[in-house]
Amino acid sequence: MADTRHDPVVVIGLGRFGSALALELAARGTEVLAIDRRPKIVQGLAGRITQIATADATDLQALRELGVGEFHSAVVAIGGDLESSILVTSLLVELGVDDIWAKAVTHQHKRILERIGAHHIVLPEHDMGERVAHLVSGRMLDYIELDEDYALVKTHPPREFVGVPLGETKLRSKHGVTVVAVKPQGEQFTYATADTVLQYGDVVLVAGPAGKAERFAERL
Ligand code: ADP
Repeated sequence: MADTRHDPVVVIGLGRFGSALALELAARGTEVLAIDRRPKIVQGLAGRITQIATADATDLQALRELGVGEFHSAVVAIGGDLESSILVTSLLVELGVDDIWAKAVTHQHKRILERIGAHHIVLPEHDMGERVAHLVSGRMLDYIELDEDYALVKTHPPREFVGVPLGETKLRSKHGVTVVAVKPQGEQFTYATADTVLQYGDVVLVAGPAGKAERFAERL
């Protein structure tokens, strides 16, 4: 199977979200075609993104001229202008782009984009708000919900799991979570095994059902 990690990506709308996304893709070595209708925005980013164009992406002809239909992946990073967001997404569907990502600002907006045919919808403000809620109220260092009820939590190991090989802690059967990786102080993350012995100050990545993973992180 072809390696598609570095397929070129079109990013339409270079506000805060779209420009951060386009710059990160470029920094990771992905070829990016970035489009915004505001010349000032485009001028400001011109030195940092190789392919960048000023165009109104609701104009099908302009998209065709830029070769947007040839891309496998595209991101519609337009939030505030609902009409543009919807229209641009539908044009990408019409052009046959295989993998369309779109940013939504409300759940209603998300539903519309799904119906039009976007393949992935992100609600950055909403999702980040939820994520910060998990972090601000507890001991977790980071929290990622991987699926509806499955999370990855970055935290320090609770006292009762320090100094004992993980295999003897019965973490999975008693607490329903798995320690996936460990980062001893001043070192890098490495995968955890049944023989791994956690120390105070280690950082661990714990995977499991969201509630269980959170409860693990709340133990002292
Ligand atoms: P953020 O909250 O991430 O800053 P915005 O929705 O405010 O996102 O920004 C969207 C960007 O998309 C703006 O820079 C705007 O000029 C651009 N944009 C909006 N409509 C179009 C369009 N039809 N064609 C191209 N760019 C557009």
